[in-house]
Amino acid sequence: MITQLASPAELLCKLISIPSVSPMGRDVDGEIYLEHRLSDWLERYFSHLGADCERISVMPGRDNVLAYFDAGIDRPTVLWDVHQDTVPVDGMTIPPFTPKEHQGRIYGRGAADVKGSMASMLHAFARLFQERPRNAANVILSCSCDEEATAEGVRHLVAYWTGQRSASQRLVTAPTFAIVAEPTNLDVVVAHRGVLRFRVITNGHACHSSQTELGDNAIYTMATVVQRLAKIARELESSLTVHPRCGGARLSVGRIAGGTAVNIVPDHCEIEIDRRLIPGEEPEEIYRSLCQAFHDLGPRVSCMPPWLVSPALGDDHNASLASALLRAINEVAGKHEAIGVPFCTNAAMISSTGVPTVVFGPGSIAQAHTVDEWIDVTQLNAAAEIYFRFVAEGAKTD
Ligand SMILES: [Zn+2]
Repeated sequence: MITQLASPAELLCKLISIPSVSPMGRDVDGEIYLEHRLSDWLERYFSHLGADCERISVMPGRDNVLAYFDAGIDRPTVLWDVHQDTVPVDGMTIPPFTPKEHQGRIYGRGAADVKGSMASMLHAFARLFQERPRNAANVILSCSCDEEATAEGVRHLVAYWTGQRSASQRLVTAPTFAIVAEPTNLDVVVAHRGVLRFRVITNGHACHSSQTELGDNAIYTMATVVQRLAKIARELESSLTVHPRCGGARLSVGRIAGGTAVNIVPDHCEIEIDRRLIPGEEPEEIYRSLCQAFHDLGPRVSCMPPWLVSPALGDDHNASLASALLRAINEVAGKHEAIGVPFCTNAAMISSTGVPTVVFGPGSIAQAHTVDEWIDVTQLNAAAEIYFRFVAEGAKTD
């Protein structure tokens, strides 16, 4: 039985004090990396509420934690997804894990991205147990892992209802709607771009630079590849295929490396490609067509499998969810709107399974990943009220 609920601000301070840093290539030794400490705390929080809870392993030290509020089988089910990990803390100018409240703001790593939203959701979730609103919808609170690096947590999550054999005992059918937490300044994100990243390698034959006729210069082959990519990039910039909320697709070659010494004909060169996707573009199809552009160069060119595939979020089937959520937002926090943004979120993966999905949360993306990350307490409280109100009133859409 709950006596007094912790406020969103109190919850956020607790969450900041429990490090859950995504290693993003760093050595995981040390006290701050991976989500397991936060997952432990979340399990205790949910068990204290009396909520049914599942903790499902995704990778060592990295679990999805799911908690359930059951209102009735005849009710819609709203999935709230919020990631547990934060970006690393290198170069921060404030203590990352010692939360500080000052002039209406809370400072610390994750305050905006996305422990602020998590605090608002945890508070709203506890209120559901305390108040048991008569017309409430069911809620599944998904605290997913690994969002910042490779988004394995959400890939695992959607497999619970799309896979042949679910790793979850309870999440075996798709939710009715999903709200993904990210700092949106209390607007509703209905569309965003996606991203595809992969490496292209050219191979040649090394020899002394005094006898170039004996070798095959991998940098020359790469020059052809890069020129073709530059042409594709220019075509995308002037393309008339533009999404009204997300703009156009983009391509950039962001890194190149090759050769060992000036007097050796190089046998290896590689580049890294970043391709921004707009709603409607299939990542696999785009990858295949880019690889096809070098096909005539033969086996000297290899396209490596993408290391990051994050689809775009389209606004073709989330309009009624967005307007229902906006009604709750406008009652609590005044006029806000449906928007498109350039950053990627877990929403695209959930939406790709056919579940109407939007992104909504307190705080601004401008404060995410910064050296003095903070969030406005007024927004934390407003978001908690909005999350609560939307499901307490039954998650009704038109
Ligand atoms: Zn985030």
